[in-house]
Formats: sequence, C-alpha cells, structure tokens
Amino acid sequence: MPHKHAVVVLAGIVLGVLLGVALGWQGGTAVAAVAWMGTVFLNALQILVIPLVLAAVISGVASVGDVRHFGALGGLTVVYYLVTTAIAVLIGLLMVNWIQPGAGVGLEAAGRLPETIAEGGGADARAFIDSILPPNLVAAAADTKLLPLIVFALAFGVAMLAVGKTGRPVAEFFQSFNEVIMKLVIWLMYLAPLGILGLVAGRLGQAGGGEALVDQLTAVAWHVVTVVSALAIHAAVLFLILWLVAGRGLSYLVTMLRALFVALGTASSSATLPLTIEGVRENGVDPRAARIVLPLGATINMDGTALYEACAVLFIAQAYGLDLTLAQQAIVFVTATLAAIGAAGIPEAGLVTMVIVLNAVGLPLEGIGLLLAVDWLLDRFRTATNVWGDAVGGAVVHRFMGRWGPAAGDAPAR
Ligand code: ASP
Repeated sequence: MPHKHAVVVLAGIVLGVLLGVALGWQGGTAVAAVAWMGTVFLNALQILVIPLVLAAVISGVASVGDVRHFGALGGLTVVYYLVTTAIAVLIGLLMVNWIQPGAGVGLEAAGRLPETIAEGGGADARAFIDSILPPNLVAAAADTKLLPLIVFALAFGVAMLAVGKTGRPVAEFFQSFNEVIMKLVIWLMYLAPLGILGLVAGRLGQAGGGEALVDQLTAVAWHVVTVVSALAIHAAVLFLILWLVAGRGLSYLVTMLRALFVALGTASSSATLPLTIEGVRENGVDPRAARIVLPLGATINMDGTALYEACAVLFIAQAYGLDLTLAQQAIVFVTATLAAIGAAGIPEAGLVTMVIVLNAVGLPLEGIGLLLAVDWLLDRFRTATNVWGDAVGGAVVHRFMGRWGPAAGDAPAR
C-alpha cells in the first residue's frame, strides 16, 4: 500500500510546514527539539545508502550476467540521462527567457565582470578523474561522494563475472545482502512521516517562520515562479516519456509518491535512494535495471538541478541588466548539463556547481547571493524532479530489456 503510506508522508510535510511556521514565529529551542526527529531519520537513511549502493550495483551486475547485456544497459542508461537532462535545461532556458524574472532587479555589474572572467572555469579533466578515482574510497564514501563507490562496484561486479564459477558465491552473497538492506529500508519507511515532519518543521522554524519566509519569497518571487513552473513542465514531459516510451501510467507515479515526498523533505537524492529503489521495485521494474540505473541516476542524472542552474544563471544575468547572446546561452546549456552531472545528491549541491556555469559566461559569482535565501526551498523541488527522472529512467530501461529473459540467480521483484 505505498500510496496510503505516501499520504501519511504528505501529512508529515503539511504538519511540518504548519509547525515550522508556528515555531518560527515563536522562536526558542522548540525548533531544535522537532528538528532532531528529522536528523535521526536522515542519518538512518544515509547509513543505509552506502551498503545499499555497494550491494545493489554489485548484485545488479551479477544479475545482468552477460557482458553484452551489461554494455547495452549502460548505453541505454547514459542516452536516457543525457536526453532528459538536455530537455530539462532547454525547458529552463525557454521559461527564463519568456518570464524574464530578473528584469528590473537592477544590480550593478560595472567594474566586476572582467575580474570574474579572469578567475576562469572550475571544471577540468583532472578534477573529473579525481572525483571518480579518489585516493581513498572509504573517505570519499564517508563524504557522501557516491560516484567512486559506484565505479568500484561496477568494476568489482564485472571482475566477478569474469572469474566465472568461482565468483558465484560472491554474487550470491551480495544478492542476499541487497535483500537484507532492502528489508531495513522497508522498516525505516515507517518512520518517514515523523522524520519528514521534523525536517520540514526544523528548516522552516530556522528560516524564522512565516514573516521571514514571505520576505524571502517576495524578493525573488518571479525567480521562484519560473523555476517551479519549469520543473513542473519537465516533470510532465517525463510523465509523457514514461507513458509513450515505457508504457506505464498513473499507477507508476502513485507508487513513486512516497519517494518523491521524501525527496521534498530531505532535499537529497542520495538519501532518498533507498526509497526510490523500493518504489521502482514495487512497480515491478526489472531488478537489473533498478540496481544499476537508480544508484547511478541519484549521482549523475539531475534534471532538476540542470534546469535550475540554467534558470538561475540567466536570472543573475538579467538582474545585472546583461543580455546573454544565443551563443552564450548555448554555453549555459552545455555547462549546466555538466555541472548537474558533477553535483552530488546532497542538499544545495547545485548551488555550488553553479559556479562553473557562471564562470563559463563570465558572470559575477556574487550574483549567487541573490538566490541564497530561497535556495533551500527550490532545492526540494529540484531534488524531487531529480528523483522522478531516475524513476522514469528505471521504467524506460526496463522497457528496452523486454526480451532479455529473467535475471541471473535473482529473486523476482516483489
Ligand atoms: N539537492 C539536490 C539533490 O540531491 C542537488 C541540488 O542541489 O540540486 O538531488
């Protein structure tokens, strides 16, 4: 009954908003007491993420069983990620050009631009390789950098297949390890409503309650409207892809609601990953797709983040009274896609990687200051879009796996 549980999680969000606004007005230590519940839930989720990624990816590779299938699965996944992220950025650019949320904000850019251009870009090949192969895998994982762990698990899984029969006990171990972790996830989900209530109330209480929130929102109201409506359009486009390409419909979405609400509550795709995997499994997606597409998606497939970065950068340009040319917007298109791939699935990571996009078109980094007050709120919406993109990806890849036959040595999806 995932949808019934989703309703309870939604109730947690609503109560969290009410309580947070009340606490913010009242002030005091009450906020900390409620926020504590959220922290406990978030920590428990994060504890599960690392063993889950390891077990899911290794057992995912084991259940693919055949290196050719593995290549096809990887290829499909990457094509899906790139196409949908590009669509997201395009929607963001169209909306921000149409609504012009930054027009009239009137910031002064004089004298600043050349300086920031001189600072140069933030992403290079060396940094990229370091992010995939850091010197210490455990330290990277402890820092919620999941990409190195995924790369290791993929390599480990392929090596396990390559050793043939001898590798089978290891494959079986990780397959049952994965089931045990998923059981823990199911248990933890019962705490989700309280945890989300704590997270939302804690964050709103800290924001200073209703008055402060209204102040923050009115300052950049059109930016908020642009981002939220562009995200909603992209979510609808993803639904269309789900329907037309994967042949799934509303019930798929309803089953995913719980994970989407948890994404709203936590602002972290990585922390939501256990619930995303569970939702997709309940939707009957092939475990081979679920275990590889979703962990990778939670780390590099960030439609919402890419869309947000494009909107935010153009908003800053408009606020400084600068008109970006089509060529500059093309640079935003490419760098926002790359910056989103580089963003970790943790709260407000997108704001940090946005520096790459701002640098690429020579905009002042100080512009980010404009967005700080509402980023925690928009982060939740873009995280939910990121998670929705991964969930749809699972269904799309599943569809293309139709004729592969059953997974190797695996329990069927529940
Ligand atoms: N919080 C987002 C996520 O976890 C990343 C971002 O800041 O855009 O998916």
